[in-house]
Amino acid sequence: MDHFLYRDGALFAEDVPMSEIAAAVGTPFYVYSTATLLRHYHLFDDALSGMDHLVCYAMKAASNQAILRTLGDAGAGMDVVSAGEYLRARAAGVPGERIVFSGVGKTAAEIRLALEGGIRQFNVESEPELELLSAVAHSLGKTAPITVRVNPDVDAKTHAKIATGKSENKFGIPIARARQVYAMAARLPGIEVVGIDVHIGSQLTDLAPFELAYTKVADLTAILRADGHDIRRLDLGGGLGIPYVRDNSAPPLPSDYGALIRRTVGHLGCEIEIEPGRLIAGNAGMMVSSVIYLKSGEGRDFLILDAAMNDLIRPAMYDAHHDIVPLIEPPAGAVQATYDIVGPVCESGDTFARQRPMPALAAGDLVAFRSAGAYGAVMSSEYNTRPLIPEVLVKGDQFAVIRPRPTFDEMINRDTIPEWL
Ligand SMILES: *Cc1c(COP(=O)(O)O)cnc(C)c1O
Repeated sequence: MDHFLYRDGALFAEDVPMSEIAAAVGTPFYVYSTATLLRHYHLFDDALSGMDHLVCYAMKAASNQAILRTLGDAGAGMDVVSAGEYLRARAAGVPGERIVFSGVGKTAAEIRLALEGGIRQFNVESEPELELLSAVAHSLGKTAPITVRVNPDVDAKTHAKIATGKSENKFGIPIARARQVYAMAARLPGIEVVGIDVHIGSQLTDLAPFELAYTKVADLTAILRADGHDIRRLDLGGGLGIPYVRDNSAPPLPSDYGALIRRTVGHLGCEIEIEPGRLIAGNAGMMVSSVIYLKSGEGRDFLILDAAMNDLIRPAMYDAHHDIVPLIEPPAGAVQATYDIVGPVCESGDTFARQRPMPALAAGDLVAFRSAGAYGAVMSSEYNTRPLIPEVLVKGDQFAVIRPRPTFDEMINRDTIPEWL
């Protein structure tokens, strides 16, 4: 459930008509709902109630500081994957002891930054990373709390680009080699083993792969404890999917996911961390765009929007579906049309939807892309020298621009011309 609903024929974000935001900031733009973000965070937090736990929002899904502050103030931790994300989370007011650091390519500089600034744990993904972490921590006279990310070789049954838990993926250490790597960690100076980490992929719409992976983690916990390691924390990753198509095939609920966690690892007495990104931010954000032209092609009609693949790359990158709805609710019995919905970028991949049935639209009409809050604004670029589009946060009847649209001068003046020219 989200807080983007039609009221008296107009689409609202909470108590704000979306057309009012469009008039104030111009299109295209992203808009997020505070109530939806918090609702999703609390669904996870409640699902783990009674267990010692921390919900670490995977901020790569949507990393505007206003979003981080909203979630951080509610008690969320953060899962970061770069120095930039670490600094952004800290700037938003999230303390280091609530930040976990994931990713296969942490550099010495990133490790140092997190160790000096304070960090809950590093989720280590390889032996060379473990060695570097030990060397940096030792040189600073610090101890790095770690989990090792294990790769359980489980098929997440999701899009190939976002599956991460199969042995052919670059992520984690093969679970069969885990004992060796934990033994190595125990020997290295500056390293303190605190637990195990696993993350098998994103947009999972079935709980079975989680069940397989977490059962393997439970077995591994027993083995590592027998080896003498103090496994007291399990980071179970993110990945729970969201409904992109509004039909009856709803993905599992956070409460079902929480029950699964209790069933598979609840008996181990570990502190539980989870790292949801998409489920918290996805349906809490929309992208709003205007129709520039309605163009008739051979046997098909193109709706040309002012938003493009550089603003929302998910359809081009992951063949993703986004529901696209008019800001003015079409009356019952309104004329239907079928469109190819495209942006102005000079690539055929700049297509949001092909042969999409929807109410007939005209130039100047506004549309909203549903479920665009996660992996939307964060993946945008200035391709075709198109300015990054603004982000807006709504709370009740208030809204605020949380990232302004840059001017063309700001964009162009970032280039510097060498002296010799
Ligand atoms: C991307 C990622 C997540 C978040 O995944 P979602 O599908 O957005 O919930 C969590 N943990 C790690 C390590 C990730 O790479």
